[in-house]
Amino acid sequence: QLRLRSALALVTGAGSGIGRAVSVRLAREGATVAACDLDRAAACETVCLLGGQGSEEVAPGGAHAAFQADVSEAGAVRCLLEQVQACFSRPPSVVVSCAGITRDEFLLHMSEDDWDRVIAVNLKGIFLVTQAAAQALVSSGCHGSIINISSITGKVGNMGQTNYAASKAGVIGLTQTAARELGRHGIRCNSVLPGFITTPMTQKVPQQVLDKVIGMIPMGHMGDPEDVADVVAFLASEDSGYITGASVEVTGGLFM
Ligand code: NAD
Repeated sequence: QLRLRSALALVTGAGSGIGRAVSVRLAREGATVAACDLDRAAACETVCLLGGQGSEEVAPGGAHAAFQADVSEAGAVRCLLEQVQACFSRPPSVVVSCAGITRDEFLLHMSEDDWDRVIAVNLKGIFLVTQAAAQALVSSGCHGSIINISSITGKVGNMGQTNYAASKAGVIGLTQTAARELGRHGIRCNSVLPGFITTPMTQKVPQQVLDKVIGMIPMGHMGDPEDVADVVAFLASEDSGYITGASVEVTGGLFM
């Protein structure tokens, strides 16, 4: 059964890791995917995986398409939503914000620039995408599901990640508040809190740190991007039609 047969899904950070797995999963559920990334070539690669044309020039109502945008820039996000609507003649009814970065440093040594950039991409970026998508949905009278990728770090903190943890905690509060404001418009907003997932982001983590974390995971191993994508597909679909404002942990039991 294709749960997202008539959906148009916008995925940010679609060029790698979790965003790519989400794009693949939503397409398998029948959605048409607008795959956005800062890295245009990576977004195009994802669209190729989906069997789309890997181009912004795709005909309206056609297959999946790739878009380039920096989610931390208001003008770029406005332009992204306009391009997606022009391309498909409707606003996306499923919006998944996966774009995110880390710039790790201990609090005592963290630079203002490392703080600002992580907050700009991970928190302001999600504000801009959530706001622009909600405005498009409300003004066209369409219902939708907005899914923001936070992190378990936003709930419990993590050494060397004051900037990242603050951004991810912010995403939870932002999403809960958006859920309160947008429920009456038929728009659900939920956040997903992955634990340790095997992606290019965690490839940067030293093996001895990973081994220590894996030792704390009841399921005994790191998650795959597909584990997160499965939950996103559920939250995107009507199977979760009465769930909004939730923060769903996908951690293998880490930090219960
Ligand atoms: P990743 O590095 O593999 O992918 C992130 C993608 O975001 C990249 O393709 C990158 O180009 C894109 N991106 C970065 N800055 C951008 C910007 N300004 N505008 C648009 N796109 C931008 O990372 P991932 O592990 O797949 O992470 C995806 C999301 O999941 C992130 O928000 C991350 O914080 C979150 N997360 C990951 C883990 C994990 O263990 N991997 C755990 C918890 C949460």
